[in-house]
Amino acid sequence: MTASDWLHEQFEPTGSSIGFRVTRKLDEVQSPFQKIEVWESTDWGNVMLIDGAMMVTTRDNFLYHEMMAHPALFTHPDPKRVVIIGGGDCGTLREVLRHPGVEKAVQCDIDEQVTRMAEKYFPELCESNADPRAQILFDDGIAHMRNAEPASLDVVIVDSTDPVGPAEGLFNQAFFESCHRALRDDGILVQQSESPLALLDLMREMRAEMARAGFDSFQTLPFPQPCYPTGWWSCTMARKGGRGFGFREADARAKAFATKYYSAEVHLGAQALPPFVAQALGG
Ligand code: SAM
Repeated sequence: MTASDWLHEQFEPTGSSIGFRVTRKLDEVQSPFQKIEVWESTDWGNVMLIDGAMMVTTRDNFLYHEMMAHPALFTHPDPKRVVIIGGGDCGTLREVLRHPGVEKAVQCDIDEQVTRMAEKYFPELCESNADPRAQILFDDGIAHMRNAEPASLDVVIVDSTDPVGPAEGLFNQAFFESCHRALRDDGILVQQSESPLALLDLMREMRAEMARAGFDSFQTLPFPQPCYPTGWWSCTMARKGGRGFGFREADARAKAFATKYYSAEVHLGAQALPPFVAQALGG
């Protein structure tokens, strides 16, 4: 085994790296927005990177995709209209469409190449793309939300890359104002909110921007994600209309679809923030 058999993402803020043992590079595309690579690994299935950052592996993506979708959809009383910004690998879309009450789910990723690579190397994530309730768009999510009809959506899920490059504008007040306007009263915005171990300042600032945009309650749920820096990740929900985050626990227990990570118990457990995270986020 030589050093070149290992694929690493070095993460400067924590001086650490995430690595997988790989056998070969399956594909590489330079899109107008970013460089997308897919590698074959010995133990994690296929691995997708965007601009050198790990995005998805076959083995552990269920953790992230289930937590991006199900807590928000089981918190909203009756989610019918959902928009996913980013999410081009289609895994979050697949989880959203497991909810029979969802009438329409729009996925708007800026980069068509991410979806084309997912179709080829992660076909299981794309198995719901032909669902008649799904609409897949390739457009800038910032413009999409700016132009969205006011009070037309129940849940907006921001499944984005890190806040650099095309995703930078998905973390600020102006974007959150667009989301707030597009949500109905009681609507929920959920955003991937990076690592609680490495990026608490970013999480705090994101909540502050959401508050300035008019959202009045917040909940951050941590979950494991081995392929992302530190191996520990989070999503943050923001709510319009002050209803808090009690969820439809009985419905989550009785759900008619299978999940590998999400359950009513996991949802309850994820609400218990470790003290250092709770303190940093203001209790
Ligand atoms: N969850 C992963 C993570 O945290 O590393 C990232 C998932 S990946 C599906 C994120 C997607 O966001 C990419 O496909 C990228 O093209 C998309 N994206 C970045 N900026 C965007 C923008 N302004 N509008 C829409 N999609 C965007």
